[in-house]
Amino acid sequence: MKKPTRYGVLLLLALSLLMPGAADAQNQGPQLPPRAAPTVRVESSALPVIDATPAFDAARATSEYLARVSGAARARSDAYFEGGYWLQLVDLLWGLGIACLLLFTGLSTRLRDWAEERTHSRSGQVMLYGAVYIAAVTLLGLPLAFYEGFVREHAYGLSNQSFVAWATDFGIGFAVTLVAGVIVLPIFYAAVRTAREAWWLWGAGLAILLLILQMAIYPVFIAPLFNHFEKMPDSPLERQIQSLARANQIPADTIWVSDASRQSKRISANVSGFLGTSRITLNDNLLKQGTPDEVLAVLGHEMGHYVMGHTTRIILLLGLVLLLGFGFIAWSFGVATDFFGGTWQVRRVEDVAGLPLLAALAGIFFFLATPLTNSIIRTAENQADIFGLNAVRKPDAFATVMLKLSSYRKLEPGAWEEAIFYDHPSGRTRIETAMTWKKEHMHDPDIRMMDGPGVGGR
Ligand SMILES: [Zn+2]
Repeated sequence: MKKPTRYGVLLLLALSLLMPGAADAQNQGPQLPPRAAPTVRVESSALPVIDATPAFDAARATSEYLARVSGAARARSDAYFEGGYWLQLVDLLWGLGIACLLLFTGLSTRLRDWAEERTHSRSGQVMLYGAVYIAAVTLLGLPLAFYEGFVREHAYGLSNQSFVAWATDFGIGFAVTLVAGVIVLPIFYAAVRTAREAWWLWGAGLAILLLILQMAIYPVFIAPLFNHFEKMPDSPLERQIQSLARANQIPADTIWVSDASRQSKRISANVSGFLGTSRITLNDNLLKQGTPDEVLAVLGHEMGHYVMGHTTRIILLLGLVLLLGFGFIAWSFGVATDFFGGTWQVRRVEDVAGLPLLAALAGIFFFLATPLTNSIIRTAENQADIFGLNAVRKPDAFATVMLKLSSYRKLEPGAWEEAIFYDHPSGRTRIETAMTWKKEHMHDPDIRMMDGPGVGGR
């Protein structure tokens, strides 16, 4: 999914956490028929030698899988993903540039004065300021958004969107942000005025509430603005998925398919929603490009998020990060206004003219906190991988899906690179996880007989 607009303090806080469910994915490969009942006789000579050997070497199997993506494909995926590291920095600097422009030119104070002339209501002033502010930062951020969301995605062959389709989605995203901002900002500033010194505690509480609210309403009200969702049509695979869902006590109406191919070629699935709106969504790229076993491997992972209550876990842990973030913003707001408050004519947090500063400080905090937030999510992803392997028992399909994911994720990062930049384990880590699982299950008939791709040395 695309990144939401990331300006506006609370919007940034709430929306930057918009996609809790993590993408998983996969793609083309020979369409194998679903495996028949175990009574089918398997030609033992057709089985890969290694799969029947207790001496299965997990490390070698991992290397052999990874070696399947090489040359230009590998270079391309590395370049795409590594470019993303720099874009995080560019995004931050761009956002800081916009904040400096609004503060140092006095545009922000003029906008506040203009709003104060229009209405005596404090909330009305914040609404007016907020609406113009959101429009201005969206406009100033447009070149970067266009490059990241359209030009670059096309350059790497990941986008299916025409310019008009992209612009329409961008416009919808802007409208949603505007409406949310005009509602949320007056509430935030009212809380700041009421709480005085403790404003940052109230702000963090409000941000956590917004995070929960937004997670609950996102799949029902926001996601359908961009994509169409429907139940998966009846098929042998659909029945396998339903069976897997029942076995793990997941309500059957929780599985949805999205037309993500409207926007992108990426194969993906996710868990979204909270408080009764939880659902698992697999995208149509996954269905078209994945083998049935690969789809099941991905669904097992997503069901892991669901069963293990990862949405709650993420809300709790990111709630702590938000608390830390508001503490940082409160402290650094004081430092920044001590230095520049005179020039900006911004001294107090409750002055809405300071909104660009709050947004900038939030941007700095979340940039610095990236390794922390990524690690919070990545550890949950690893748990879901293991859950999926246990539930679905298809380590080779899981491994091939991870190779397909490499169309947009670097497969083999360094250890620090993975810790800092990865919100999922890397392809190498995930294939290692699957092959380690496989090695420990080599005595199970279904694993030994598995008609996997037959890697793992001999
Ligand atoms: Zn996941």
